[in-house]
Amino acid sequence: MPAKYIFVTGGVVSSLGKGLAAASIGCLLESRSLKVNLMKFDPYLNVDPGTMSPFQHGEVFVTDDGAETDLDLGHYERFTHAKLSRDNNWTTGRLYEQIIAKERRGDYLGKTVQVIPHVTNEIKAAMKKVAQDVDVAIVEIGGTVGDIESLPFMEAIRQMRQELGREHTLFVHVTLVPFIAAAQELKTKPTQHSVKELLSIGIQPDILLCRTDRFLAKEIKSKIALFCNVGEEAVITAKDVASVYEVPLVFAHEGVDTLVLKYLHIEAKDRDLSKWEDIVHRVYNPKDTVTIGIVGKYVEYEDSYKSLKEALVHGALAHNLKLQINWIEAEGLEAGDATCEAQLEDYDGILVPGGFGKRGIEGMLIAIRYAREKKVPYFGICLGMQTACIEFARNVVGLEEANSSEFDPATPHRVIYKLRELRGVEELGGTMRLGAWTCKIEPDTLAHRIYGKLEISERHRHRYEFNREYEEPMTAAGLRISGSTPDGTYVEMVELPDHPHFIGCQFHPEFKSKPLEPHPLFSTFVGAAYEHGQKRREAKKSVAVEMFHRPDRVRV
Ligand code: GLN
Repeated sequence: MPAKYIFVTGGVVSSLGKGLAAASIGCLLESRSLKVNLMKFDPYLNVDPGTMSPFQHGEVFVTDDGAETDLDLGHYERFTHAKLSRDNNWTTGRLYEQIIAKERRGDYLGKTVQVIPHVTNEIKAAMKKVAQDVDVAIVEIGGTVGDIESLPFMEAIRQMRQELGREHTLFVHVTLVPFIAAAQELKTKPTQHSVKELLSIGIQPDILLCRTDRFLAKEIKSKIALFCNVGEEAVITAKDVASVYEVPLVFAHEGVDTLVLKYLHIEAKDRDLSKWEDIVHRVYNPKDTVTIGIVGKYVEYEDSYKSLKEALVHGALAHNLKLQINWIEAEGLEAGDATCEAQLEDYDGILVPGGFGKRGIEGMLIAIRYAREKKVPYFGICLGMQTACIEFARNVVGLEEANSSEFDPATPHRVIYKLRELRGVEELGGTMRLGAWTCKIEPDTLAHRIYGKLEISERHRHRYEFNREYEEPMTAAGLRISGSTPDGTYVEMVELPDHPHFIGCQFHPEFKSKPLEPHPLFSTFVGAAYEHGQKRREAKKSVAVEMFHRPDRVRV
């Protein structure tokens, strides 16, 4: 059976959660034993988001095959079992790069190369590629209807309907139904305008996912149905929820999957969402809270660490805990005085995530020193592993000027230096060590206890590496290298055996964590942090009791 297609577009404003909507539809279809794949088209001209600032674009999500992609692919992987690769995320820039290469080769045999049909054909070919061997391919079109940049994609999906017919294609439009406080009313006009805009490019939506803060009453649904020319049953309340993992349940409650199956003429098994119900139950019924301090440079913009945040949530859910993240601006710690200690004191665990550039590094080193000396559970990811090595080299081995050549090219102790395979490469786009690489774990290490195996595969995105010339003095002083590439070239994991939980990894485990399969590095870190927090609270309590019983206690 050829695959059916669901096209997800968005209207009115951006950030309505199209990616989450697409992922949740995928999740619902999988809950009915269907096989899905998901893809996203991003209409901007960058070849990929790899060179874009995390402030502008949010996190760059890395797939196993080393593609630097949009963060929505993270939602797709967390909500479904789809195996994503560079085929699942296309930007206008990459499409044009490919088309222009073909033109230069002479592949178009002298024809004039045009948006229709050449660009639209490439878009359709990309869709058909991900639709192989699945029941349903869900295609998200980035941007908002009406954007000039998204027109070729809209035209391509219009043509898909024309080619394949109604039974094989479905248009889902995510729109906004705002509640206007002054009028005490929900407003349908933005949705009407958005659908009008879609109609003007020849697309009649089949299902409207109306983003709103409250359930839509029947009258509102009827009004939207009438003006937008869809069935009343197809006007769905996409209500705001406190946890993204509740979205599939909200959609199920609204019957989205039943509707999709009906419109696409798919026969499927009954829905089984029990595992997701369990996750959502845990989200709303935690036994306690765990507080993690994340020390980084892009912290004011949460989207820059999307997968990291979710992976920590998964780790906390594994222990039935509510996660409290405190984002700490690394630069703010650079004074290194008592105010910094005070800032770090309240965390059960400290994490330094990935990052690029010099800003905030000294503050990260102060946080790491604090975690190491005070035995606070520490987890360093990529940059967080590199800075942990620098801190150890400076403050334990005594190499005061130790640094990474990324931050100080003239340092006498390049504990971290540019990847040997990248020497002489100055271009920024796609020139890192990217994607899945195998790592061998040393037996009887924390890493071994965490993974329970000696060979793992994790995703990378870095340009610098641990300098093995410093291995001898560092390990002699107590650092343990617990993971390396199988040929021994690259150091992948380090840890401190005389610390309750101090671990760093050169890769990004957050990309592989899912709510139903929390990544062990996150669940063990959160577990250790919680234990540390408990002990800290107990200790504080006993100090308070002691104070109370002291005869010389000053009474006021
Ligand atoms: N900037 C460091 C490097 O390029 C770390 C990268 C990261 O944390 N993703 O190696």
